[in-house]
Amino acid sequence: MRKNQTHSLWRPGILFFTATVLPGLALSVLTIRAARHEEAFMEKQLENTFYSELSQTVYSIQKVLESVRETLDGSLAETGRTGFPADWDRTTDLVGIPFQFQLDSGFTVPSRGGNSPEEKLFVASNTGFFLDRQPVEIYRSISDEYAESVIAAAKQTSSFQSGNNGRLLRKQASDAFETDKNVQKEIYSQLRSRGRVVPLRNIVSGSKTDAKVEAYTPRLSTYVTESMHFSDIVATAPSGFIPRIIDQRFMLLYWKKLGTATIAGCVVDMDAVTDKILSVLPQLQTAVRIVTVLDHNGKPVFDSGTASPPDWKHPFTAREISGLLPRWEVAMYLTDPAALSSRARITTLSLILLAGILFTVIAISGFILLKTMQSEMKLAQQKTTFVANVSHELKTPLTSIRIFAELLKERRQPDPLKQEQYLGIIISETERLTRLINNVLDFSRSKRSGRTYSKRECDLNGLSRELAENQRVRLEHNRFTFVTAYSAEVLPATVDPEAIKQALLNILSNAEKYSSDTRWISFSLGREGSDAIIRIADRGIGIDPAEQENIFREFFRVDDSLAARVQGTGLGLTITRQILRDHGGDIRYQPNQPSGSEFVITLPLCKEVPGETENSDR
Ligand code: ADP
Repeated sequence: MRKNQTHSLWRPGILFFTATVLPGLALSVLTIRAARHEEAFMEKQLENTFYSELSQTVYSIQKVLESVRETLDGSLAETGRTGFPADWDRTTDLVGIPFQFQLDSGFTVPSRGGNSPEEKLFVASNTGFFLDRQPVEIYRSISDEYAESVIAAAKQTSSFQSGNNGRLLRKQASDAFETDKNVQKEIYSQLRSRGRVVPLRNIVSGSKTDAKVEAYTPRLSTYVTESMHFSDIVATAPSGFIPRIIDQRFMLLYWKKLGTATIAGCVVDMDAVTDKILSVLPQLQTAVRIVTVLDHNGKPVFDSGTASPPDWKHPFTAREISGLLPRWEVAMYLTDPAALSSRARITTLSLILLAGILFTVIAISGFILLKTMQSEMKLAQQKTTFVANVSHELKTPLTSIRIFAELLKERRQPDPLKQEQYLGIIISETERLTRLINNVLDFSRSKRSGRTYSKRECDLNGLSRELAENQRVRLEHNRFTFVTAYSAEVLPATVDPEAIKQALLNILSNAEKYSSDTRWISFSLGREGSDAIIRIADRGIGIDPAEQENIFREFFRVDDSLAARVQGTGLGLTITRQILRDHGGDIRYQPNQPSGSEFVITLPLCKEVPGETENSDR
């Protein structure tokens, strides 16, 4: 029976799992993944917005550099071949150290290797380069080079038209380089294979919102270096800039050809340049982000003096500025980087929590549902077997009654003692029948409206004795040893005698039913304090300790091979306990020694017991 139940629970179990638990799980996983994607998307959006603001800034700074060159060009326009004006460094604040160089003889200004330490350093570090003895590293934009190569390739095709088409191609190529990681990868590997050096940037990349990431990777520059000689540089244009990084010091050289053999120029005053850059920068700090320019060493040029400066090496997003300011970057930082990650974490956590709660609720309610279903199904099954069992149980006493009644009718037994015995059996079987029918009727009645008793004061001792002795004939006829011990005194109690008889008969009948080889039943009655105690013991099959709790439940029948052979309804003990409790008493089970079961019944006695003086109040 139990196996069938477990088996039949498989289907609702699987159904519940596939219809509720699985979709619930999938929904939770999807929600969490969607939340993560949404966070990544938001971060990307923010990065894109900042990046375009930076692109605008880079453009403005490039314009500043152009205007610096134009200003310097203009300031030397009038000088012709005579060299720069004597008060050049005073007329424009962009001029740091002015110089003049003769292609054949070296620096004429500063003269004699320079006076101030700055001049001396300038002359010492640039003479070799100006005399074409050493090359210098020039930074070229990879994006520009790539765009050139794309245009060059397009020019080979017949469909290429210069003008708009060329500009469009250039824009597309530089966009592709800036945004497409695969294009970048390919270009970098091409450059390396051609022996070109791609410098590392000062900033590092890593997860922007995850402060725990330590293994940041330095980013590759979008500029590539190329060694060039001074003569090659000055051959390409009438004037220009040459950026130089010497021993960690940055120097921006401005030069202009004055005639064929003279070059005038200056070390540009970077303070003046950075002032101009500052004027084109957007608002340095807002509630959301901080903007700054990082110099060639990765140090902020404008430190807005925030109380907790960001990790300068680790911007939210950054862009290199120009080949004229190598390794310089405009960088953007989140004012509160933790806010983004903590918001992401809170969103994810609350979603995980929600999904967890949802899942737990589903699991618990499913479990309760399955458990309820299991007990309902068990009860339904018990009720079905109950009907079959009742009809079977009715048959047994009826058969006995019929046999003995026929024997008496046919007068085959002349012995009056035996005849008496047969009549006794008929009476006890009738009692069994009555008990069985009463059990069923009482049970359904108690289910509907509760049972009513007609209680009166009677002697429990006499009642029990009469009942037990009525059973003796049949029990002994069925080869039982029936041991009885009654009380020596009257045990008055206010009870419904028929109900109590029914209860006692149930227990006696069980003792008889569940005895196998050792047919022994004991019925004893005594007084303990203010209670009457009735013990009914047998040496039958006994009850498994695991089932001892359940035997008083309605329809419950022990499901083992020994007990299953016996007919029963599973109502006897339920009704017995109900009757006893309705009388203020109770019943409990305990194993009998050496084997079998013992049921101990307690019933309260009337307070005033005749002949009882000492313990009458107990
Ligand atoms: P039933 O009509 O099945 O006997 P009961 O409510 O009287 O129903 O008993 C419930 C179950 O308790 C029985 O099915 C049986 O397994 C077990 N039981 C009751 N009395 C005894 C006993 N004296 N010895 C062994 N098992 C018993």
